Amino acid sequence: MTAYRSPWSDDELDAFRDAVRRFASNVLAPREPSWQAARRVDPASWREVGAMGMLLAGVPDAYGGGGGTFAHDCVVFEELEYAGVVSLGKHVHEICAHYVLAHGTEDQKRRWLPRMARGELVGAIAMSEPSAGSDLQGVRTRAVRAGGEYVLNGSKTFISNGQISGLICVVAKSDVSVGASGISLIMVETDELAGFRRGTTLDKLGLHGQDTSELYFDDCRVPAENLLGGTEGAGFAQLMEQLPYERAIIGVVAVAAMERAVRLTTDYARERRAFGKALVDMQNTRFALAEAKTIAHVGRVFIDSCIERCIAGTLDTATASMAKWWLTDMQCRVIDECLQLHGGYGYMLEYPIARMYADARAQRIYGGTNEIMKEIIARAL
Ligand SMILES: Cc1cc2nc3c(=O)[nH]c(=O)nc-3n(C[C@H](O)[C@H](O)[C@H](O)COP(=O)(O)OP(=O)(O)OC[C@H]3O[C@@H](n4cnc5c(N)ncnc54)[C@H](O)[C@@H]3O)c2cc1C
Repeated sequence: MTAYRSPWSDDELDAFRDAVRRFASNVLAPREPSWQAARRVDPASWREVGAMGMLLAGVPDAYGGGGGTFAHDCVVFEELEYAGVVSLGKHVHEICAHYVLAHGTEDQKRRWLPRMARGELVGAIAMSEPSAGSDLQGVRTRAVRAGGEYVLNGSKTFISNGQISGLICVVAKSDVSVGASGISLIMVETDELAGFRRGTTLDKLGLHGQDTSELYFDDCRVPAENLLGGTEGAGFAQLMEQLPYERAIIGVVAVAAMERAVRLTTDYARERRAFGKALVDMQNTRFALAEAKTIAHVGRVFIDSCIERCIAGTLDTATASMAKWWLTDMQCRVIDECLQLHGGYGYMLEYPIARMYADARAQRIYGGTNEIMKEIIARAL
């Protein structure tokens, strides 16, 4: 098969990829077991990742970023996945940073982005609540203006980077008398914030090194200048505008995971023998791997098109939703098939495919469930 090269790649990105690959496999991957045991990534590692230029690579250098594009972000997401580095909550960190970049005031960008790029300030996005996940307009967290402050009350759940975040983009109702136009995004700096509390790290099926948590806000007083963009009621529109970026990231990770699963399983099937021959010489194994490889490649070509459109700023919500649902569904299907080809070893956590199976499942749920993605696509028919 002729080697395929993503159309958005170039020599500069290849050099960046090489550096990221070495760091991810030599430095970060060996730390995965300790992060999974601790259920979080330590602050020193975040700073090291920042120093390597792996955070906010697509943010202009004027704000401390790498001065690249979405292609640079994709290189990092792909290489982390290929190396099995899944605990770093880089996805929500980047999403939080891109909210600030796209909608923040000049002062907000200068205040937060450089520290986020260095990994000193970890970002989170707090949308989901115990009684509002898919239906975001149903959030109950209140942000009431009182002089030069907003007073926040409410609780959030399933928040990635919940334990370690220093900057949280909180979706809150600043006006309960209206629907979507009553939603505002309040950037909460958690350092020494009275009334703010983090719940325990939630016990998950997979992604054990990610500190998914509940958060509580009890009369938290946040300076009014932390209202994202400075315009009250703009939150829902700001959320909608960022969705293609968020969903593209999930698709990028899904494709990289499929590619890794196919590679690992092909290697395994070449080595493992049964009935006097290698598994890879049996027709079922060959067909299963041929199907998995085809799906991963179709996914690759589709996500590359989404990446190019994301770089150009033309990725629409419906197409990004197609990428999110289809690629994550395929990720789970391909990994399930690859696990099967490992036999009993596939069920053992000592083999990466077992953990990939558990980790993949969340991809169909967060970032908007795959059912919601189909609703969005259907609306655009
Ligand atoms: C590992 C993990 C990390 C997460 N990280 C974050 C984070 O950092 N920040 C954050 O804010 N949230 C986060 N989430 C939460 C996630 O975004 C929500 O779980 C998700 O949006 C679904 O909301 P819900 O759990 O309330 O499910 P519900 O909205 O209650 O949905 C339950 C089921 O009903 C279906 N459903 C709901 N509405 C419709 C409809 N209109 N049509 C058809 N079917 C429908 C859903 O698809 C789903 O199958 C995370 C979740 C997980 C698992």
